[in-house]
Amino acid sequence: MRSSHPGKSPHGATPSPYRRRATTAGLAALLMTAATLAGAPAHADELPLSEAVTVDAIERHLANLDMIAEYNGGNRATNTPGYDVAALYIEDQLKRAGYEPYRHEYDYEAWRMNSPTVLSQVTPEKTSYEEGEHFETMSYSGAGSVRGAKVTVVSPGSTDSGCAPEQFEDFPEGHIALMQRGTCPFGDKVRNAADAGAVAGLVYNNEDEVFLGTVGEESDIPAIGVSGELGEEMASIARNLRLKIEVDSTVTTETSYSVLADTSGGKEDNVVVVGGHLDSVEDGHGINDNGSGVAFVLETALRLAEQGDPNNQVRFAFWGTEESGLIGSNEYVADRTPEEIDDIALYLNFDMIGSHNYGRFVLDGRMELPESGGAPAGSGAIAKIFEDYFEEQGQVSEPGVLSGRSDYLAFMQAGIPSGGLFSGADGVKSEEQVEWYGGTAGELFDPYYHTPDDTMDNINWDSVAELSAAGAHGVEFLAANTLPVNGVVPFSAPVEVDLPRLGDAWVK
Ligand SMILES: [Zn+2]
Repeated sequence: MRSSHPGKSPHGATPSPYRRRATTAGLAALLMTAATLAGAPAHADELPLSEAVTVDAIERHLANLDMIAEYNGGNRATNTPGYDVAALYIEDQLKRAGYEPYRHEYDYEAWRMNSPTVLSQVTPEKTSYEEGEHFETMSYSGAGSVRGAKVTVVSPGSTDSGCAPEQFEDFPEGHIALMQRGTCPFGDKVRNAADAGAVAGLVYNNEDEVFLGTVGEESDIPAIGVSGELGEEMASIARNLRLKIEVDSTVTTETSYSVLADTSGGKEDNVVVVGGHLDSVEDGHGINDNGSGVAFVLETALRLAEQGDPNNQVRFAFWGTEESGLIGSNEYVADRTPEEIDDIALYLNFDMIGSHNYGRFVLDGRMELPESGGAPAGSGAIAKIFEDYFEEQGQVSEPGVLSGRSDYLAFMQAGIPSGGLFSGADGVKSEEQVEWYGGTAGELFDPYYHTPDDTMDNINWDSVAELSAAGAHGVEFLAANTLPVNGVVPFSAPVEVDLPRLGDAWVK
């Protein structure tokens, strides 16, 4: 049951101590017929994928990824030995199960900070600001050094400040542009400022705290996100304000890869893609983000291989370079021909399924949350498959915002129905959510998100158990039948009918 209807009791279904083998008679029939069509007998003792994929097995994969990070510089970030060895582990496991894994290579512009950014007030008062508290350097900020430059507020009081070049008509060259967050991408605001002769672009938040921003492509001038509090203060004293800014960053072309593997059987023109990102942040082992998703996708691949050919081909994807801008998945989609895109039935994403203070979030395919956007038709049907499963287990679930923060984005932009599961990251748990999931109200779903403490110790194994069972059920359902998602019926074998007439004419 989903939380968007708080009037209903979240526990309408009686929780069953056992997972039911088949969820509906219809699905059981479909699964059996699909297996029969593919030439494999449907064994009565064959476990559904939701039971074949176990927490113990996922924990073993996680422990292995943990050890790989531990012995390789403490992380699995893109273009590090930790990433490469983790990729070798995935490939070895897949090969042992009969897959032929392959790599999708790509070049990308890697943006790196060489030393911490300096932002300080020179006049009216000498004050140094703290990165992380007062400001954050935007990803792909240009490098630059500005000493005691004046500040001009662009379109004061307007959230589209900086979005239109006309707003800079009277902008004094050599000034720092102070803009408010809203309406258009940060990259547009900073580019307009640079074109007007600004020496740096500051964008302040529409809420008190600071935020992590990106300008997408390297900007010509330093680009910095400022807390709403500091931004308001700067705007109010802009007349007398002079700032010092130093951003020391470089952009270099690097090469990395994603790892993929396809089932040998199944319809090749109706492929179900199941993915999660293999890279971690540089700050730690990345066990929840996204060791948990990787371990789930890998274990699902290994167990599916034991169940004979699926009706639809299933492609497992372990994306590279997600943490620096969803690069691996974007490059993969960008490199596909229109025919190859057409052959992809749908995409399922698994990015964090073991959050310490977890929730059961089903990616919002019906776009019920105001912040969700861009889900192609069929995405709601994917969400329903997961929601129904949770409901049958007597477990509450709720929509997880489709904000473009993970690898489903490229697939949605290509018009491919998308969905997936997520146990929460930097959102704050409410009292109501504690009733549904347990845990602690007022704390982040994953207090260790993107920190060195994202370790084995801080995984919530109930979260892994519940989300992996639902995830495996979704993969099994869609490997058998994507009809409600993309209109493709599972059985397209020609039917032979021996009749003596063709219309009004006798054939024999
Ligand atoms: Zn992630």
